[in-house]
Amino acid sequence: MKHFAALLLLSIEYSSCALYVDLTHTLSNKTSYFPTQTRFNFTEQTATWVNGNYFYASNTFQTSEHIGTHLDAPYHFSNTSWTIDQIPIERLISIDSLIIDVRKQCKQNKNYEITVEDIKQYEPINLNKYFIILFYTGWDVYYSNQSMYSGRISNDNSPDGLQFPGLSVKAADYLVKKYHQKLVGVGIDTLSIDAGQSKQFDVHQILLKNNIYGLENVASLGTVLKELSQPTAYFILHVLPIKIEKGTGAQCRIVAVIQDKISNGTVQ
Ligand SMILES: [Zn+2]
Repeated sequence: MKHFAALLLLSIEYSSCALYVDLTHTLSNKTSYFPTQTRFNFTEQTATWVNGNYFYASNTFQTSEHIGTHLDAPYHFSNTSWTIDQIPIERLISIDSLIIDVRKQCKQNKNYEITVEDIKQYEPINLNKYFIILFYTGWDVYYSNQSMYSGRISNDNSPDGLQFPGLSVKAADYLVKKYHQKLVGVGIDTLSIDAGQSKQFDVHQILLKNNIYGLENVASLGTVLKELSQPTAYFILHVLPIKIEKGTGAQCRIVAVIQDKISNGTVQ
């Protein structure tokens, strides 16, 4: 029983041939948020025994699409790109994925902007199929602390003063130029794929215009990294956003699947 609880705590589950890691933060009223967005507001509405016969529970919640672990639909920053319900399912399920570890750089500079060189360390990225790149800044350890995670003390709704790492404009341009036919999504373990200091959200603009979606507030990348045969190994990602008509984004469940047969950046 103790062992089972420990497994749940790490969001890991084993099956005979694969290891599953849940890369999703649990939503609650304490969930960290981007200041301009409506916070997650959960109300436990009913939890009762009906006439002493059976138990019945039902809750309600209100939230921005962009709270918690979520997907930014390309339409979020590009009026000609896909809304959340329009993203083809083959770009969400069973996608080869790679973690680029930039923790060291971000530890030295909380406003670090991920460079082209950081990406090149992991090349050649030469898969023949769709893929997702996840950037691991190490910021997920602050997730339950809004001021640490967002880098600002004030609780008002202005985005000023945010401090956390993100991609540089050059890195976003590079990804689009080099990989846009195959790169379906870019994820990060912070509030935004743009660094906190960004004013115009250029990285969003560049990627989303090319129908590359964003994954924000991704959890447990360190757990995946520990389980990989080597840091540059690939694994499978399943990304399951809520299907909202005209959605600019949606909360999503992200699950990593690590299989023995995938290693060394090639699918055997
Ligand atoms: Zn978003």
